[in-house]
Amino acid sequence: MNAEIIAVGSELLTPFRIDTNSLFLTRELNKLGVDVIRKAVVGDDRKELRRVLQQAMDVADLVVCSGGLGPTEDDLTREALADTLGRRLVRDDEILRTIQERFRRYGRAMPENNARQAMILEGAQALRNPRGTAPGQWIEVKGRVVVLLPGPPVELEAMFANEVRPRLEKLGHRRRLYVRDLRVTGLPESEVEQRVTSIYRQHPECDVTILSAPGEIQLHPRIWSEDAAAANKTLDEMVKGFALALGENLFSTSGESIEEVVGRELQQHRATIATAESCTGGMVAARLTNVPGSSTYFLGGVVCYSNDLKSAWTGVSPDVIEAKGAVSAEVAVALAEGIRRNTRATVGLSITGIAGPGGGTPEKPVGLVHIGLADERGTKERAFQFPGDRERVRSFATIGALDMVRRHFLYAALGKG
Ligand code: AMP
Ligand code: MG
Repeated sequence: MNAEIIAVGSELLTPFRIDTNSLFLTRELNKLGVDVIRKAVVGDDRKELRRVLQQAMDVADLVVCSGGLGPTEDDLTREALADTLGRRLVRDDEILRTIQERFRRYGRAMPENNARQAMILEGAQALRNPRGTAPGQWIEVKGRVVVLLPGPPVELEAMFANEVRPRLEKLGHRRRLYVRDLRVTGLPESEVEQRVTSIYRQHPECDVTILSAPGEIQLHPRIWSEDAAAANKTLDEMVKGFALALGENLFSTSGESIEEVVGRELQQHRATIATAESCTGGMVAARLTNVPGSSTYFLGGVVCYSNDLKSAWTGVSPDVIEAKGAVSAEVAVALAEGIRRNTRATVGLSITGIAGPGGGTPEKPVGLVHIGLADERGTKERAFQFPGDRERVRSFATIGALDMVRRHFLYAALGKG
């Protein structure tokens, strides 16, 4: 079974609102074995809506619409579908009473407009809305199904779970989507692709989605199958192949974030960490504290942006800053050692760099970032030259710093550290 999702609402065609309902719907439909083949976003325009509905019914077995079921004049999904199917809208008195009752409970009179929400297409099943007034609708037409759902995400999600999912399950499709979530860092997307393509070419039944963000690449191998055991076996084989091809750059095969992986390593080693950040302005600390329970290993950190505070808070000698510059290997080392000494953390982590757009020189261009890591055995430092604008450089630096901690424990375990 395949589906098209139509997000209705003129606000979704402005720069201020984005259609998120279709992301939820796609995830849920995939779980039920329904493949989403197309999505559309359309304004509150009856003619445009009719056209999109007609096209969707030409290509998809299931059409799911979100939005446009409100009480006001600009909510037109019901009417447009009635036009498209050539069916009448009839008032459902039971639903009208439910809506009136809802208003009474909140001590308000029902505005006349809301009566429109009790209009149901001939032959449709009304879908209860426990979180709002607009009921949804389920209509079967010539072997296809059209579902109308309200726009507010809390209403849509509850209605999908209570009313739509059970009906789709009854249609009895055994085909399901099986997905793995692999996370990679330290390699550009092109290199990741190059290393893994020969592996997934061996499995034509599997397709691989690659999601790329600064410093991190996600690989999602996906198989549609009726046979859970066979699909999982293929995916296991592929993940094994990916792991060999990507080596230590692969940091998770189960969709963990890098801060979760780092947190786990610190916990396993009964280690603590403290940070001294300059160009990332606390982003590393923010990522570390994303993880519930991070208080067991993250002691805290400082954002030492000015040279004075670098010295005051971590004890970096002003002479070193003067001689080598705030963005230098020597200062990164001193920051990491200083924050470790001052906090008595097992690991001190530091970041100093030039995020841009200003401040670069031929010797120290924008994107140059030094990361330092100190522990009881000494201090390592690495210089990176990251590409892109300020935002990208800071994101790369944040992940680069977290990855340095991950690799520190990895190499220690392999005896390479
Ligand atoms: P409606 O059912 O069209 O009256 O939608 C009511 C509200 O739901 C809108 O003002 C939006 O805030 C929200 N909404 C509608 N469609 C979507 C969508 N596709 N994704 C996320 N939010 C939506
Ligand atoms: Mg709307």
